[in-house]
Amino acid sequence: MKYSMIVDINRCSVCYACVVACKNEHVGNPYPPYSYPQPDRDQEWIRLMEEEKGKYPYVKLYPIPVLCMHCNEAPCMEACPIPDCIYRTKEGAVIIDSTKCDGCKSCISACPYGVIFPNEDRNICQKCTLCMHRLEQGKEPACVEACPSGVFLWGEESGLEKEMKKREAMPLYREKGTKPRVYYVGLPTPTLAGHVIDGKSLMDMPGADVIITDTRGSSMRRKSNVAGNFSLDNLKMDTAYTVKIEHTGYLSKTIENVLLDIEYKHLGDIKLFKAS
Ligand code: SF4
Ligand code: SF4
Ligand code: SF4
Repeated sequence: MKYSMIVDINRCSVCYACVVACKNEHVGNPYPPYSYPQPDRDQEWIRLMEEEKGKYPYVKLYPIPVLCMHCNEAPCMEACPIPDCIYRTKEGAVIIDSTKCDGCKSCISACPYGVIFPNEDRNICQKCTLCMHRLEQGKEPACVEACPSGVFLWGEESGLEKEMKKREAMPLYREKGTKPRVYYVGLPTPTLAGHVIDGKSLMDMPGADVIITDTRGSSMRRKSNVAGNFSLDNLKMDTAYTVKIEHTGYLSKTIENVLLDIEYKHLGDIKLFKAS
């Protein structure tokens, strides 16, 4: 049985429970034949990468938990000069055999995700094992179990396929072509955001209709939330959009030629005035 994982970054509250759980599980604890103990410093088998998009004062932070992707086409396996030193388990985990590794670091430079670490004391390289020792006991990986926000959806790969399609999950750094087993929901995509307010009272305006239309006439629609904010993602860069904002009892507003020249573009406060 092969496993996969969906990581929904929209749910992440940046609590670091996954990072702590991985350390609790692995620091000082050997799990032969899968791993020697993780040292108590300089290694993070799962890390929170915070990707910042936009321009001050309108920036958005995307917290992305990054662990080994257990790639189906793993550059680390190809780069390792020692036969069978990096191997794949029947569960799909990519494992570095610490008894064979001589610490040459070829895998570290080959991995596009930066998830392999040197252990200079033991002269080996180490990384996430997908918690193979726990899988063998019928448990989930420690990071998955620890997350209080339901960021990780974990299971047998064919069982997750439908959910991946439905939630448009995609690999991190898809262009690297490594066919990872870890898929993400909510990765940064070109996004247009704004804040709708009453032009007189300057109060937030929930429930405004925001319609965005591209040059070919296809459009998307959102409602502003309780705080008057809206955001439309999965747009196209370097494309000019027309943005129309409507609200019952108010004059509508149209903004022409909004060019998505940065990945997270915020239109600032958009004032609507009451229809007389
Ligand atoms: S993420 Fe890096 S270490 Fe993990 S399998 Fe892929 S190439 Fe190897
Ligand atoms: S699967 Fe296990 S080893 Fe890998 S990051 Fe999660 S807790 Fe750490
Ligand atoms: S435990 Fe879950 S919510 Fe907390 S940082 Fe990790 S992924 Fe985010």
